[in-house]
Amino acid sequence: MFELPEIVNFAKQFNETLKGKIIKEGSLGNKPHKFVWYNRTHEEFEKLTKGKKIGQTTSKGKWLFIPLDPGYVLVFGECGGKLLYNLPNSKIPKSYHLYLIFTDDSFLTFTTQMWGAMELYKKGEEQNRQYVKNMKITPVEKDFTFEYFSRLIDSLLSDKKRSVKGLLTQDQLIPGLGNAIAQDILFKARLNPKFPISELGKNKRKKLYEEIIATVDEVIEKGGRYDEVDLYNNPGGYVRILDKNAAGKPCPVCGKKIEKIQYLGGTCYFCPACQPAANG
Ligand SMILES: [Zn+2]
Repeated sequence: MFELPEIVNFAKQFNETLKGKIIKEGSLGNKPHKFVWYNRTHEEFEKLTKGKKIGQTTSKGKWLFIPLDPGYVLVFGECGGKLLYNLPNSKIPKSYHLYLIFTDDSFLTFTTQMWGAMELYKKGEEQNRQYVKNMKITPVEKDFTFEYFSRLIDSLLSDKKRSVKGLLTQDQLIPGLGNAIAQDILFKARLNPKFPISELGKNKRKKLYEEIIATVDEVIEKGGRYDEVDLYNNPGGYVRILDKNAAGKPCPVCGKKIEKIQYLGGTCYFCPACQPAANG
């Protein structure tokens, strides 16, 4: 699944490559998919995309906003899979969930892996979509300050069970972070995924905040994670510290074996020595 850095990177690549292109023809998928969220019929989508020009793409959290001028915005959200720019005469993927061919015969295809929103809105109405409306501040915005982050934690303290993994990956508290990037952030902050946020003192809060910013920046700079591909089908350059390849191997810091647990809807990897479960 794409997380904030991959989405930021897509927006950049859309503006480098797709901005200004005119859509010759657009269509939704050639294969039904239960977990792709559309808000248009095939006919509507075809009619509304024809002749539109790609504007300046923006992103927020795990959402991409691609203006189709005049008057519409194509929205991709909470997605994973392959979102690809294809040169004229390239092979069309066997199955796809969205297809746009431009007047220069290059084309865009999106084949989702798990789920995702692929919706077309009248300009402005996309801001009212659930999860987009009232989205909290994301780590790439200048308002994501330590003071803001600390206030966010304070506002959650009544929830006795909230852990740092929950803070990073649940309820869109910090939009754009997901299960992949959270692992490395927690490893670098030396926090166990289950560590309760109620026990985060000022120093631990500060360290966690700094590692969120540093990790997000690093993944963006390296063009996304190595296990995702960009608009040109190139894998990102950020190699995760903790993922399935690290399980059972020595921790890169202390040499203890990296452990694996199921927790909060996903697999977590952590070092039992560097990331102790309680305050020490
Ligand atoms: Zn360790």
